[in-house]
Amino acid sequence: MENWTEQLRQAFPGAEIREQEPMSRHTSFQVGGPAAVWAEPGTGEELAELQAFCRQHNIPCALVGRGSNLLVGDKGYPGVLIHIGERLSRCQVEGTEIWAEAGISLGALARKACGAGLSGLEFAAGIPGSLGGAVFMNAGAYGGEMKDVLTEVRILDAEGRLRWIPAEQMELGYRTSAAQSRGYGILEARLRLREGDPQAIQERMAELMAQRKAKQPLEYPSAGSTFKRPEGFFAGKLIQDAGLAGYSVGGAQVSAKHCGFVINRGGATAAEIRELCRQVAERVRERFGVELELEVRCLGEF
Ligand SMILES: Cc1cc2nc3c(=O)[nH]c(=O)nc-3n(C[C@H](O)[C@H](O)[C@H](O)COP(=O)(O)OP(=O)(O)OC[C@H]3O[C@@H](n4cnc5c(N)ncnc54)[C@H](O)[C@@H]3O)c2cc1C
Repeated sequence: MENWTEQLRQAFPGAEIREQEPMSRHTSFQVGGPAAVWAEPGTGEELAELQAFCRQHNIPCALVGRGSNLLVGDKGYPGVLIHIGERLSRCQVEGTEIWAEAGISLGALARKACGAGLSGLEFAAGIPGSLGGAVFMNAGAYGGEMKDVLTEVRILDAEGRLRWIPAEQMELGYRTSAAQSRGYGILEARLRLREGDPQAIQERMAELMAQRKAKQPLEYPSAGSTFKRPEGFFAGKLIQDAGLAGYSVGGAQVSAKHCGFVINRGGATAAEIRELCRQVAERVRERFGVELELEVRCLGEF
C-alpha cells in the first residue's frame, strides 16, 4: 500500500491526500473506520485521473460528499475515498439559473439562491448533504426534490469521460438516479429557479427548519431517514407500529422522537447500526409483510 500511496502523491501534487483517515470524522453518523487513503481533488480532470489511477492499479475507490447518507464499516475502506468537498464548491448565479460545483453544501446553495431572490431550493436548505450527494440520491423534502430544479449535470462517466448531460438523462426517481445505476461521478450542476421575494424565501426556509427540529432527532448523530418510503406506507409509522420506538442494539437506537431515524446514542459501531437496521426490517416484514429498503448507503468493511 505504501507504494501506491506514494505514487498517488507524486502523480497528484495538487490533490490533498491523507492516509488512514477516520471516516467517523466525515460521516453524520460519526462512525466508521479509516479510509486507507482520503483524497480531495480540486478539479474534474484531477478526479478523472485519480479514478483512472485506481482502475489501473486495481485499487477500490468511491466518492464521498458530506457523508450524511453514509454508513462506513468499522474496519474502514481498503482503498481510496475521494472527497468531493470544499475544493470543488464554487457557485455562481446567472439570471434565474445557478451553476455550482458538486462539493457545495445544499445549505450554502439554498442561502445563495435566497440572497439572489431565487425561489425553488427552500426544500433543500435543511438537508445536510452536498450538491453532488443530493443529485446522486435525488434528495427531496417537503414536496420538493432535486429533479424539480436540475437542468444539466457535469458527470464523470464509467468510461472516464467528463461531459455535460441534460437532467432528463439522470433518470431521477424516488431517491435514485443514473449516477447510482451507471456509476457516474457528479462534478457540477445547473439549476433553474424562479424569481421570488428574498424575505419570503428566508421565512419559508426558517419554517421548514423549525419543522425539522420539532420532528427529527437532530440532537443525535444520524443519517436522516434510514429506510426508503415503501410504496403506500411510511417507514417510520411501520417501525413505530411494530413496537420498535427506542429499540437499541448497543449504542444504535431507533429514535423514539421519529422512528424513521436510527440514531447513534453515543459510542455506536457501524456493525451495531447495521444489525439494528437488519432487525428492524425483519420485524416489519414479519408484522406487516412490507419490505424495508435501506436509504442509507453502506461502504467498506464491517
Ligand atoms: C439530519 C439529516 C436529515 C436529512 N434529511 C434529508 C431529507 O430531508 N431528504 C433527503 O433526501 N435526504 C436527507 N438526508 C440524507 C442526506 O443528507 C442526503 O441523502 C444527501 O443528499 C446526501 O449527500 P452527501 O453529500 O452527504 O452524500 P454522502 O453521504 O457523502 O454520499 C451518499 C451517496 O452519494 C454518493 N456521492 C456523494 N457525492 C457524490 C458525487 N459528487 N458524485 C457521485 N456520487 C456521489 C456516495 O458515493 C454515496 O453513495 C438527511 C440526513 C441527515 C443526517
